[in-house]
Amino acid sequence: MKFLSNAHTHTPYCDGKSSLREVIREARRLGFVSLGFSGHADQGFDFDYSMSDGRQAAYEHELRALRRELNTGEGPRLWIGLEQDALVPGARMMQNKARFDYILGSTHYLTRDFHGQAVAADGRFDTLQSYVWEVFSGDWMAMIQRYYDLHVSMLLGDKPDIIGHFDLVRKWAEAAGLFDASSMAYRQIAFSALEKAFPCGGVLEVNTGGMARGYLKETLPSKELLAAWREMGGQVTVTSDCHNAALLDFGLDEALVLLRALGYRSVQRLGTGDELWETLEL
Ligand SMILES: [Zn+2]
Ligand SMILES: [Zn+2]
Repeated sequence: MKFLSNAHTHTPYCDGKSSLREVIREARRLGFVSLGFSGHADQGFDFDYSMSDGRQAAYEHELRALRRELNTGEGPRLWIGLEQDALVPGARMMQNKARFDYILGSTHYLTRDFHGQAVAADGRFDTLQSYVWEVFSGDWMAMIQRYYDLHVSMLLGDKPDIIGHFDLVRKWAEAAGLFDASSMAYRQIAFSALEKAFPCGGVLEVNTGGMARGYLKETLPSKELLAAWREMGGQVTVTSDCHNAALLDFGLDEALVLLRALGYRSVQRLGTGDELWETLEL
């Protein structure tokens, strides 16, 4: 079975490499039925990484023009979304929700100001390490608790359509062996956060981007969290967190196999008509 869609796609308007047209061309070549762009929303700090300085408006403008152009020809059905960080002010979130087809709610940043620098859970390791030492006296679990607290409170407060890379904080656990993500202490924090987040109503993304870029061996979230989400009755979609058109469908079909093995009977993918989601039986 092929998934033939992706709701998590970046472009040079933020930190992606391939232009909108290049990604669409690749989606067509792969036979995608739908495709969603999710540039990093203008966030008022760490400007290089997000669509600041008018880039968010230019992104929206180009996508709307492309969608008009595509609607007169062949697919895929285009969706104009945003990936919005938990530290983006709530008022901006409400404006973006009204303007865009969907919001992918993610937590990257732990603070926007540590000695004048933003600190991201998946950002520069040396900055993260100094932050953990100085703010949490070297206690990685305390930093992880802060990550999940921020994530859950954004999910429950802003109710994004998609729950972005739920356990992104695992990145450095695997890449640099900094804390043990299989330890009871870590798992308790992560499971409890997933349970608290459930009422937000969002579709949980199964993100293969860390595997595509070579710093993770498995999806975000982990198999264990995905199994727990299924038991809660949650819904999932599969994404490649694409930053490069050549990796647009990286790992998507393998993720479907994993989901089936975990007992999932269906996944959500971006729709081909007016509805944001359609259900794909596994
Ligand atoms: Zn992200
Ligand atoms: Zn992303």
